[in-house]
Amino acid sequence: MTDFIVRNARILGGEPADIAISGGLIAEVGRGLTAGGASEFDADGLVALPGLVDLHTHLREPGREDAETVASGTRAAALGGFTAVHAMANTSPVADTAGVVEQVWRLGQEAGHCEVRPVGAVTAGLNGERLAELGAMADSAAGVRVFSDDGKCVSDAVVMRRALEYVKAFDGVIAQHAQEPRLTEGAQMNEGAVSGRLGLVGWPAVAEEAIIARDCLLAAHVGSRLHICHVSTAGSVEILRWAKSKGWNITAEVTPHHLLLTDDLVEDSPVGSYNPIYKVNPPLRTREDVEALRAALADGTIDCVATDHAPHPVEDKETEWGAAAMGMIGLETALAVVHEAMVETGLLDWAGVADRMSYRPARIGRVRGQGLPPTAGSPANLTFYDPSVRDEVDPGGFASKSRNTPYEGRTLPGRVVATFLRGRPTVLEGKLA
Ligand SMILES: [Zn+2]
Repeated sequence: MTDFIVRNARILGGEPADIAISGGLIAEVGRGLTAGGASEFDADGLVALPGLVDLHTHLREPGREDAETVASGTRAAALGGFTAVHAMANTSPVADTAGVVEQVWRLGQEAGHCEVRPVGAVTAGLNGERLAELGAMADSAAGVRVFSDDGKCVSDAVVMRRALEYVKAFDGVIAQHAQEPRLTEGAQMNEGAVSGRLGLVGWPAVAEEAIIARDCLLAAHVGSRLHICHVSTAGSVEILRWAKSKGWNITAEVTPHHLLLTDDLVEDSPVGSYNPIYKVNPPLRTREDVEALRAALADGTIDCVATDHAPHPVEDKETEWGAAAMGMIGLETALAVVHEAMVETGLLDWAGVADRMSYRPARIGRVRGQGLPPTAGSPANLTFYDPSVRDEVDPGGFASKSRNTPYEGRTLPGRVVATFLRGRPTVLEGKLA
């Protein structure tokens, strides 16, 4: 018995075809499938993609439910076309025990908008000193495979080495927030011509690149898996290209905002100068960096896009530059930004977008049943996207509890029309189902 027939979807941007969904799986793909009493969904003109998978989401629960909750963040994820997100560990309490990761995982199950894969902290309390209960988190109901102190760098080389060695036992991966702390003390924005003119303390590219180089060498030395979070500089791309040429087990992500926005927005933008909406960690870089990141995502040196969705309440963001929190929300605009930065520029086609926003992140996070090609027999995790429209971004309509988007008032292409999670629509007609 078929549950859903999707009509005339362009699978990965190809020729229109019907998709029959039954029992949570894609039962059949072909032309003119018979409905047999199933609900029909007209996907004429829409691109069908595998459900998107985010390796880097801040859901803020437990602890900062004023900024986001698992429920509100996963509603935003579904509206953005995601069927799985990795919830970062820098909550309060920190997700450094089996108890906390199981709590986050269970909240995700209860909300039911998308799969929530908790990320475990690398060190207890994110203190950078003593390893957290990595094995217990891996063995827990949450089945953690990605570990990160994100927000902070695991800067101690010995701690990083031990963590890389430890996670080999259960095929885990350390996701490093690459930021040499001494080189970025008091840093407010990218170190360069703009920071010089504005008199803000600069954040040098070398602070990211030095950690990436060190950790690639460490990962190779102990034969472990390393993932680099939010790569932001052209120099980082060069180091990754070199490390990958060695055959080392290293992967990397880039955020949508680092594919589109540059540091000169801090000086001059449609919302004025020194607007903390552009304050983010790692900082927005230069046009040359953006071009290098796009090229690296296109050629696979950077494996995937990850949102680094970082919600903050108004009072933490709408304040003077120096005091404002770092971060941007991104779940509900990620696909549109990638469309503009990568597809409209001819750097990726829709099959490439599926690879960088679904297949590869699912593989890196070892997420079963996600990130699979939309063919018969696969779990029906699907996103239907209309590439033909252009909308002005209106954060008033966001499901996220926070509003710190850098795209307010900007026109972006495309719209997520529907999302299916294991055969069940979480979004229909662009609204939560
Ligand atoms: Zn980070």
